[in-house]
Amino acid sequence: MWTDTHCHLDAPEFDPAGTAAQRDAARALGVARCVIPAVERSNWETVRALAHRLGDAYALGIHPLYVPQAHDGDLDALDAALTAHRDDPRLVAVGEIGLDFFVPALTEPAMRERQTRFYRAQLRLARKHGLPVILHVRRSADALLKGLRELPPGGGIAHAFNGSAQQAQAFIDLGFALGFGGALTFEPARQLRRLASELPLDALVLETDAPDIAPQWLYVPAAERAAGVPQGINHPRELPRIGAELAALRGATADAIARATTANAHRVLPRLAALA
Ligand SMILES: [Zn+2]
Repeated sequence: MWTDTHCHLDAPEFDPAGTAAQRDAARALGVARCVIPAVERSNWETVRALAHRLGDAYALGIHPLYVPQAHDGDLDALDAALTAHRDDPRLVAVGEIGLDFFVPALTEPAMRERQTRFYRAQLRLARKHGLPVILHVRRSADALLKGLRELPPGGGIAHAFNGSAQQAQAFIDLGFALGFGGALTFEPARQLRRLASELPLDALVLETDAPDIAPQWLYVPAAERAAGVPQGINHPRELPRIGAELAALRGATADAIARATTANAHRVLPRLAALA
């Protein structure tokens, strides 16, 4: 039984009519549960409805890449949505929230400040509503950790983790699991593969980040994309194969990795455990 802790099944890359059949295909491969994070106010209702339709879970939040177009009032709307759905067992976290200091337009001082304000406001909402958080971490681990120390939520997941061993340990010490996915399937990703093989197993959760972060077997190199070949679309059905790669890195069985990473997901997203 695998758990995909991060997949954007509402993304335009997925044909809405085909989503249920595709989700069934992943379930047939053992992907028992997906967590569908929101990215902005306009998709909160979409991810909620989709999670109910597919038998999955969801999170509500404002993604850092959507902060530039978000309105301040969206934070009040998030508070209201978290209140309205407080008894929904499929609402498992506040997310996807965080900081992105990689995208150039987001690193200008005013936008860094705005991202930080939205991040901290959403940490406060997670605390108010007793929910863990799903974090977007890109060149921002230390700034995220600072916020977590000042406004600790009840743990959560550092999604698509790609930091140092010390940063990993700092997230673990704050009650977080680290999300690993398709990036670990690339042999040149030496540091990430070392982290995935050496971190304590109880700190790891698996995710596809579908439709993004295509694993090596779906990845289309830049030169071919320039020639018109589209990038491969990632999907929860790839999770067992990504999990098998993690198992090989750790010298474990795929079954042991599936059980452990699902148990970890249930620990850091307690409402997911109640759904199982
Ligand atoms: Zn995401």
